[in-house]
Amino acid sequence: MGFNTRQVHAGVTPDPVTGAILTPIYQSTTYVQPSVDEYMRKGFSYSRAGNPTVAALERKITDLEGGLDTTCYSTGMAAVQAVLMSFLNAGDHLVISDVAYGGTYRFCTQVLSRFGVDISFADTSNPDAVKAAMRENTRMLFSETPANPTMKLSDIAALSDIARAANAVHCVDNTFLTPYYQRPLELGADLSLHSTTKYMDGHNATVGGSVTAATEEHAEALRFMLKTAGIIMSPQVAWITLQGCKTLSIRMERQSANAQAIAEYLEAHPKVAQVAYPGLPSFSQYELACRQATGFGAMMWFEVKGGVAAGKRLMDNVELWTLAENLGSVESLITHPVTMTHADVEPEERARVGIIDGLVRLSVGLEDAEDLIAALDTALAAA
Ligand SMILES: *Cc1c(COP(=O)(O)O)cnc(C)c1O
Repeated sequence: MGFNTRQVHAGVTPDPVTGAILTPIYQSTTYVQPSVDEYMRKGFSYSRAGNPTVAALERKITDLEGGLDTTCYSTGMAAVQAVLMSFLNAGDHLVISDVAYGGTYRFCTQVLSRFGVDISFADTSNPDAVKAAMRENTRMLFSETPANPTMKLSDIAALSDIARAANAVHCVDNTFLTPYYQRPLELGADLSLHSTTKYMDGHNATVGGSVTAATEEHAEALRFMLKTAGIIMSPQVAWITLQGCKTLSIRMERQSANAQAIAEYLEAHPKVAQVAYPGLPSFSQYELACRQATGFGAMMWFEVKGGVAAGKRLMDNVELWTLAENLGSVESLITHPVTMTHADVEPEERARVGIIDGLVRLSVGLEDAEDLIAALDTALAAA
């Protein structure tokens, strides 16, 4: 069946007791066992290990990602942590995108590094750079595509080949494009990760994360870490995210269409120095964007002529666009990564990977494109 049908129906059935069309919020810590010999017959024991509402969301995401099993977490960062802690040991080597979500970068440099894991930050947009970074003891390759906030793309199939040859697990952070537009497991990756906080919820209502695995072995390791580290998603968050997922495709299509119109408008504006949006033929990896995804998403960045000062004036004065961290919601958001999401990344490192000081990040929402463009137009005139 098609994606639209599956996003509505996969993973859920009307409640067999009451007929309630929506999966209930199972607000219960513990589950009564029929007898000692039938322990776990109904699949649940304690809500840190598994919860029926969370399980419904896990089934839905598994279906949409085309995987074998999904585990859902309290936040996207808990999902990142689960992946890194499940598949890396002291003495192992990790190769990770040199441009990644700020929290992922911070976890690697300030936490994982304390546990004896060697880390190489590589330009994953260049498969040869990844090949060169791989070592004898490389056990994981972690990529994020498109990357936050530079929008650099990584070739998922090429990187998966490199990881497989090295016997390393390849995890792709698929937050920006969602399974509607990009399915890493079908391109050869082992794990597809989401901050469900973003497009899967889509309404700025919850924080959550998910990891979908392609094999039983990886799924079991993740489920073990979920219950052991105590990082499961709450049933309320799962319930809200279940409703969000049902409209994923229509939100992605509309938000991406808005983004395309805005990117074209910005590219033609005399006060804009540069725009990075994968849907523009001028985008340096336009061909890869068309090859590995079925849409371009609703994230972009641009730079205003006049540098940081002009960019800040624009962000402080633009109407309709909300100055905030976060992305992927129905509300359009504007962010200055250097002072907000990526402030913890050292200035030299930011400069090296292309997070320039004047970079203005847009997360395009569901409003009318004309209104969003009109607001940018007024702010650019004053910037
Ligand atoms: C937000 C985000 C995360 C972290 O998710 P949280 O839900 O905020 O913990 C990880 N990766 C990407 C690409 C993100 O945008």
